[in-house]
Parts: sequence; structure tokens; C-alpha cells
Amino acid sequence: MKCDVVVIGCGVVGCAIAYELAVAGLSVIAVDARDPAAGSTGAALGVLVGISSQQPGGETVNLRLKSLAQFDPWIARLEADLGRSLPVNRRGLLQLLKEGEAEAWQATLLARQAAGYSLHLLSPSELGSLQPGLRTDRAGAIYSPQDRQIQPKLLTQALVEAAQSRGARFFFHQPVQRLKRSPDPLFRVHAVYTPNLSLSAGQVILAAGLGSSPLADQLQLQLPLQAVKGQALRVKAPHILLGPVITDEELHLVPLGDGSLWIGATVEFHAPHPQPTLLALQDLLARAVALCPALAEATLMEHWAGQRPRPSGQRAPILGLAPGYSNLYLATGHYRNGVLLAPITAAILRDLVLQGETQLCDLRSFALRPAEGSQQTPLR
Ligand SMILES: Cc1cc2nc3c(=O)[nH]c(=O)nc-3n(C[C@H](O)[C@H](O)[C@H](O)COP(=O)(O)OP(=O)(O)OC[C@H]3O[C@@H](n4cnc5c(N)ncnc54)[C@H](O)[C@@H]3O)c2cc1C
Repeated sequence: MKCDVVVIGCGVVGCAIAYELAVAGLSVIAVDARDPAAGSTGAALGVLVGISSQQPGGETVNLRLKSLAQFDPWIARLEADLGRSLPVNRRGLLQLLKEGEAEAWQATLLARQAAGYSLHLLSPSELGSLQPGLRTDRAGAIYSPQDRQIQPKLLTQALVEAAQSRGARFFFHQPVQRLKRSPDPLFRVHAVYTPNLSLSAGQVILAAGLGSSPLADQLQLQLPLQAVKGQALRVKAPHILLGPVITDEELHLVPLGDGSLWIGATVEFHAPHPQPTLLALQDLLARAVALCPALAEATLMEHWAGQRPRPSGQRAPILGLAPGYSNLYLATGHYRNGVLLAPITAAILRDLVLQGETQLCDLRSFALRPAEGSQQTPLR
């Protein structure tokens, strides 16, 4: 089977790219070993921490802000394509502060306000009026009304549907097992094999989350990704917390608008196994109830664990042309922000693919940026 672009991986990142390429008029085939959003995306809470990123500036924050800026128009186009609306929480993000923490936000507040964003420091009484029901011993909060939240599985399914309506073809339960390359004089990936498919394309995009590493290995590329476990749960709590997403020391309370709430997620670097554990779930529940006592009466609906793809020794995410290749692009390692970064990732990959091989020299440095203070060794 032939097409312009093969996308490997149908998490939020691969599906966003497939959609964007289909909108650009390219013929796209996307494949996944499982169902769409069965990887990290299916476990994510979809909190888009852009404007309320704590760093005042820098490359990472700029990428987040750019992606967030694209989010509303992107969703509007997706909704127009689908003919239905998607559940987006537009009530913003509220990050609770402990005594003395407000000081550390001053530079960020000034930087965001100077850039025209809305980001406010709330006093404890302003916090109480905006979000009643929270324990009242917090030293205030950072309120970011323009940050967003979306349900990642629904978003990913919507992207599949909209991309299909624009001609993209998706194949699920088709693990990519082999990639065939040839020197040309840079390497070209000229075939992608699953158990039932043999695909050839002008360009190939590796967006397989944690599954990107073993595929990169086959191509003599080092793409080390660490699995960082996250656990979360959903409770039914009909009469509380229908406002913004609330964050307290990385614990998010995410109102879903249907009387239920996501609570999570843990960040576990060296978890012995990927399954949910009682201890972590108990801790999440205890922290949520301490923060919002009325949650003690909530009903537990479901719980889960997932794994975030975190680049080792490189900054997240890894985007761009694979070193030494003329038609292989990397879009992986989004770690804790893949949902937030999906729109900008899709736009960057679309532009790279459309520019094709005409600007190889300029683009080669774009992928695999080293983490600050680390050595970069992308090629074996
Ligand atoms: C608990 C938790 C909470 C999170 N909360 C947030 C949040 O609030 N906001 C946010 O922005 N991000 C959040 N994240 C991070 C976010 O989920 C990830 O950054 C994002 O999902 C990465 O998307 P992806 O498409 O790159 O990877 P994945 O969703 O992992 O998708 C990769 C896909 O590739 C497929 N694949 C792998 N190998 C192969 C192969 N050989 N052949 C074919 N297919 C293959 C997999 O089956 C999978 O479907 C969270 C993550 C977790 C675990």
C-alpha cells in the first residue's frame, strides 16, 4: 500500500499529526499496535498547563504557549469537521499556593501579563469566592482563566474520525514490526511492515510514544525514553467542584462536567510494575479529601495507571527530522504534556513534511535537543 505519509502510533500525537496532514491534502496512513489512545494518552488527564507554567520563559514554555494559542481554533475546526462539539473545560486552572510560594511566581506573573495573558494572584478570600468548598488554609492561588482541559481519549477519537473524513486511512491492531531502510545517500525508510500490511510512503513519522525506542533501535538511532508511571481515578461527586481544574502540589482535581471528577496523577519514576497500586490510589484519595472535604462522600468509579514517555538526557518533546535520515521524522517523548503539545506538534510536523527534503540542512539540528547540562549522542 502506498501513500504520501505513514504515521506510526495513534495516540494523541500521531492522530493530531494524521489529521493535520489530511487537512493539508496529503494521503495518510496511520497504524497502531492497539486501539487509538491505548497508550499514555488513554491515561492522561488532559490538563493544558500553558500560561500557568511556572517558568517565566524559555524554549519549553514558548512551545507550550504556542500550542495553547492554537488550541481553541484547532478545536473549532475539528468540531466543524465533525459537526458536533467536544467537551472542553474553559474555566481555567487554579494552582493553590502554600505560605511563601507567591514570591516565586512574581517573575512569571509579570512576564505573562506583559505578553498580554491573563494570570492572576488570588488572595485566600478571593480563592474562597471563586472556588467554595476547598479547605481554607491556603495562602491563595494562581488563577489562569485561559488555560484549558480536554478529555484525551475523546479528543483522539475525534481526531481519527475527522482525519478519516478527510481521507486518512487508519489500521489498528497492526504493530509495526520492521522498518526497511536504504542509503540514498542519507538513509530513507522505504517500507513499514506490520503482520498484515506492507506500507511504502514518501515520508514516515515515528509517533509511537514509548514504542518509538525499539523501532528507532532497528534504524540505528538512539531514542532512549523512560516510562514514568502515573495513576489516577474518577469519582462521582455531583454537587461539588464544577469550576476550574484545581491543582495542589501536582494533584489535579479535574471536573468533567457530568458530575464526575478525575483525581490524579502520581509521578513515579522507578515503579516496579505498570499496574495501579492501592498505596498510590489511597494517597491520591486522602490528598483529595484533605483538600476538598466534601469528596469524602464521593463514589469511586474507576482507577487506572499509565506511563508517560520521558526522553532520557534530552528535553521533551523530540520533534523533527531523524539525524542521518532524509524522510523519517520523530514526534515523541512528550512526557507530561503530550495533550497540551498536540496542536503545535501537528503543525510543526505538517510544515516539516510539506517542506520535504528541500531544507534538510536547516532542519537536521531541530530533533534531539540535549537536556540542559547533558551530552547528546543521537547516532550510534
Ligand atoms: C497519568 C497520566 C496523566 C497525564 N496527564 C496529562 C495532562 O494532564 N496533560 C498533558 O498534556 N499530558 C498528560 N499526560 C502525558 C500524555 O499522556 C502524553 O504526553 C501523551 O499521551 C503522549 O502521546 P503519544 O501519542 O506520543 O503517546 P501514546 O499515547 O503512548 O501513543 C503511542 C501509540 O503508539 C502505539 N505504538 C507503540 N509501538 C508501536 C508499534 N511498534 N507499532 C504500532 N504502534 C505502536 C501505542 O500502541 C500507542 O497507541 C499524562 C500521562 C499520564 C500517564
